[in-house]
Amino acid sequence: MERKELEAYIKTQPCNRNIKYIIVHCSATRPGVVADVEAIDKWHKARGFSRQSESGHYCGYHFVVAQNGTIEVGRTLNEVGAHVQGWNSNSIGICYAGGLNAQGKDEDTRTPAQKESLLWLISQLAKRFTSVQKIAGHRDFSPDKNGNGVIEPYEYLKACPCFNAIPEYKHLIK
Ligand SMILES: [Zn+2]
Repeated sequence: MERKELEAYIKTQPCNRNIKYIIVHCSATRPGVVADVEAIDKWHKARGFSRQSESGHYCGYHFVVAQNGTIEVGRTLNEVGAHVQGWNSNSIGICYAGGLNAQGKDEDTRTPAQKESLLWLISQLAKRFTSVQKIAGHRDFSPDKNGNGVIEPYEYLKACPCFNAIPEYKHLIK
């Protein structure tokens, strides 16, 4: 979707959910693997996700950012995502294509275009949803095993999204 169109979509798309979290993911795919909404629809359908009535998608994310920076809409903002166990109802899920290097190891593979698109998208969402308290990566929603209020690397259930999203987007929280 073009930026202008997307900006209007984010401003006007109905959303009856109370959005508290913006959660960033990676598709956990290697460079060159196409992980767009169409591909993720197939993967998530195979995993048993249900087809959403409004958007028509199985894809559990609300937005997907391709390696060239193109932003696609998955689920509508009104539809509850399927991207982080226990936190879906009050969150918006964004996935960037990548997260694995050529050897299949976890890595921050975001291209400059993806970084720019993620920042732009998250700032648009934060402007609309002033109720947002936390912008973080999937791994930051792992259980806080030692209860010190910080999800430390040893507590991560998954590496997703393979970078530290909290400090990167902290300035966008109103
Ligand atoms: Zn994830």
